[in-house]
Amino acid sequence: MRRVYFDHSATTPVHPEVAEEIYRFLTGDNFGNPSSVHYYGLLAKKAVTGAREKVAAAIGAEPGEIVFTSGGTEADNMAVHGAAHTNRDRGNHIITSAVEHHAVLNTVKALGRQGFEITVLPVDGHGMVSVEDVRKAVTGRTILITVMHANNEVGTIMPAAEIGKLAKERGIIFHVDAVQSLGKIPVDVNELNADLLSISGHKIYGPKGIGALYVRKGTRWKQTLFHGGAQERLRRAGTENVPGIVGLGKAVELAMKNMEEESKRLGVLRDRLIAGITGKIKGVRLTGHPASRLPNHASFCFDAVEGESLLYALNKKGIAASTGSACTSGSLEPSHVLLAMGVPHELAYGSLRLTLGKDNTEEDVNYFLEVIVPLLAKIRAAN
Ligand code: PLP
Repeated sequence: MRRVYFDHSATTPVHPEVAEEIYRFLTGDNFGNPSSVHYYGLLAKKAVTGAREKVAAAIGAEPGEIVFTSGGTEADNMAVHGAAHTNRDRGNHIITSAVEHHAVLNTVKALGRQGFEITVLPVDGHGMVSVEDVRKAVTGRTILITVMHANNEVGTIMPAAEIGKLAKERGIIFHVDAVQSLGKIPVDVNELNADLLSISGHKIYGPKGIGALYVRKGTRWKQTLFHGGAQERLRRAGTENVPGIVGLGKAVELAMKNMEEESKRLGVLRDRLIAGITGKIKGVRLTGHPASRLPNHASFCFDAVEGESLLYALNKKGIAASTGSACTSGSLEPSHVLLAMGVPHELAYGSLRLTLGKDNTEEDVNYFLEVIVPLLAKIRAAN
């Protein structure tokens, strides 16, 4: 059976060169603990240093500003929790958006239960936060603004740089979740005016369970979640995941090398998918921003279709897609992102996300378009 993987926002296959690099650090002499001061430890330390340099270079940072974490979720938790508690003496107000990933949203909500004052900003029908809304929400007690660079469910790219500028002018810490944007659009901590920025390995053809948090030098931020050793210059206790870190370094390096060309190529395929679906099918709407969206991301809501049954039917045809977020599928609630965008409940149940990646071709798009039209007609007829 032909297989088409259209779920790259959930995760990506590990790039063969990344796998090779990881394997190197699981074998031979490359097993050392980077804290050890002998041959083996020094080999590991050197590899971690090299990966740190690659990650820093990719986002316009200094190597000393990179803290390796166990992924995007940990980076988000560490960023938000740390910024809130370290600045508790200055204020207690945190601003975020209604469409953040749960790694941010639930961390902010947890802080709300600990006495922090929370503002969750609404978004417009395209899932976009308004800079003006951020400006109006800021008070003298605001200590943190956390807004994602690009949304995982609907692909909308946020006005993060402008929000960052505002935060900078007001002396407020700005955290950006760049897990979905890295490798697809430029991510530069200085252009974004970011003080804290999260990334994750498995979204960019790296391994799962590794990510990084950028912490701008001089930011009033301390890690407040982990207690343990002095690794990562006291910013993340625990023996470093050396194979994961070198894998992340290689993945970031490849992502940067390929981004321009690949984003252009995927943008063309994405536009063909969008045009094909909206042109051939009735009762469908594109979700997310029509222009300010990730080049590999197409998402829709269908009338009179249940997203989960569509996924099962597509899977039978060898097509792997998603209803929106890997984290919300399986729960019976429609996505918080679509609801925040004002998509009615019934329509939000009929969501479909197609996210393209390096191995996808024009033939994949053609196959999808061939399959989806009769499939939808069949599902709708059965309802
Ligand atoms: N932030 C966003 C925007 C994401 O899409 C994801 C993963 O889907 C995460 C954070 C969490 O990253 P990880 O899976 O590495 O914990």
